[in-house]
Amino acid sequence: MIFDVLIVGAGVSGSLIARKLSSYDLKTIVIDKENDAGNVTSMANSAIVHSGYDPVPGTLKAKLNVQGNKMFPKLCEDLDVHFEQIGSLTVAIYDDQIKLLSDLAIRSKENGVEVKLLSAEEVKKLEPNINPNVKGGLLAPSAGIVNPFTLTVHAMESAVDNGVTLHLGEEVLSIKKDGDVYVVKTTKDEYQAKVVINAAGVYSDKIHSMIEPVDYKVTARKGEYFVLDHYKEGLVNHVIFPLPSEKGKGILVSKTTSGNYIVGPSSEWSDDKEDLSTDKPTLDAVRKAATEMVPSIPFNQVIRTFSGNRPTPSTHDFVIGFAKKDNHFINVSGIESPGLASSPAIAEYVVNEFVSKVLSLKEKKDYKPALRKRINPSKLSVNERNALIKKDPDYGEIICNCEKVTLGEIKDELSRSVPPMSVKALKKRTRAGFGKCQGGFCQPLVIKILAEHFNVDMSKIKLDKDGSEICKYLTKEAK
Ligand SMILES: Cc1cc2nc3c(=O)[nH]c(=O)nc-3n(C[C@H](O)[C@H](O)[C@H](O)COP(=O)(O)OP(=O)(O)OC[C@H]3O[C@@H](n4cnc5c(N)ncnc54)[C@H](O)[C@@H]3O)c2cc1C
Repeated sequence: MIFDVLIVGAGVSGSLIARKLSSYDLKTIVIDKENDAGNVTSMANSAIVHSGYDPVPGTLKAKLNVQGNKMFPKLCEDLDVHFEQIGSLTVAIYDDQIKLLSDLAIRSKENGVEVKLLSAEEVKKLEPNINPNVKGGLLAPSAGIVNPFTLTVHAMESAVDNGVTLHLGEEVLSIKKDGDVYVVKTTKDEYQAKVVINAAGVYSDKIHSMIEPVDYKVTARKGEYFVLDHYKEGLVNHVIFPLPSEKGKGILVSKTTSGNYIVGPSSEWSDDKEDLSTDKPTLDAVRKAATEMVPSIPFNQVIRTFSGNRPTPSTHDFVIGFAKKDNHFINVSGIESPGLASSPAIAEYVVNEFVSKVLSLKEKKDYKPALRKRINPSKLSVNERNALIKKDPDYGEIICNCEKVTLGEIKDELSRSVPPMSVKALKKRTRAGFGKCQGGFCQPLVIKILAEHFNVDMSKIKLDKDGSEICKYLTKEAK
């Protein structure tokens, strides 16, 4: 079979492009080397839907961030993804930063983003825990927080529900043009496609270089974080940013959609695109920078540290467009921050400005933009919950005690078109294992549920990637 479009990469860019393409009569396939959608940078970030005040005016980053931000409320409603427009507050702690704050307000205006300069007193009123020496702030009400895990997975689920083929666990090894089609070789098979879209994150320069010499580089820029337990409301009410620098938007303090707090990220160049380690000196620096803005962050509530690698392009802007040699190869390359915030607009831009120039797009009559809704028992009243449990007792069986995740929710995820294939994939969808004990109690139950569902031995269930099987042998067989 010849596919109309083959997308390399099921991160947030590839998944939302696939979803957009699934609204047309096209044969589309997405290939990703990971065993889940959104398993690389799209799950390891700050999850901020930036307002768009910061990118350099006139860049793709500025244009697509501002457009993308406006698309989030409807997108997240359709995809059943938690999104809250809590606003961001960029704070000046030193006198000489006040001028930089005003410059940022001018830049915001140029980018078409509504902001408000605040006095020190106004900042303190909005954020009682801010450094009392604060000198002023810039409020951007349109910024928000989103669940980055479900954003990508649900986008891909929507694409698959609307006819897209998804092949996970296959690495693209080579791409060659043969007449009018591209031949894409993977670790498992060979595919033909009229159009290839390269959405391969930190490897997007490598994928591009499979068809022509590339005059830019995508380098990993690591960001390390702390995650705090969800212990109390109101540590911060907005996304708190320092003033941006050449290193990016800086170390932020924010609540997350699940009521935890996130502190980070650092910004370090890395030669190893796979290195996701965290280290004490870097985290100490994150801690120092964050406490300068919010002195009372309770670091004794940290339940996890993690890191993500930004796919940073040497061009300083997203690389989106046709390859030089051929307009049937479309790059969506170097999508660093604000890539998540821009992602819905990136998908529209890629399809409307590039795919439409080389393929005829006929709208599908039976396209369904909205997903089948998930049931969240913790959002129900006691009566509603009792009625639900009466109908389906699985919704009364708690598997993850920290996050109160029920067997019913887990079974629902396993019944969907992009089911979780690993403990981590299930964790990203349901939060089972995300709490204080980090899976200490629920992991054995989760492994058993996955093994029963896929009808395999528990020793086959992976924590995450290949080789991460958890149960090596029965305890009594251990040497
Ligand atoms: C520390 C940090 C903080 C960030 N904070 C924010 C933020 O708050 N707001 C925001 O808007 N943005 C943020 N970002 C940026 C955002 O996360 C990225 O822009 C976005 O996730 C990029 O998505 P992507 O789909 O382009 O790439 P990815 O998510 O990396 O997806 C690329 C996919 O391609 C696959 N792939 C690669 N090579 C191959 C191959 N050979 N064969 C098959 N598959 C392949 C990978 O497995 C991967 O799944 C942050 C990023 C980081 C690292």
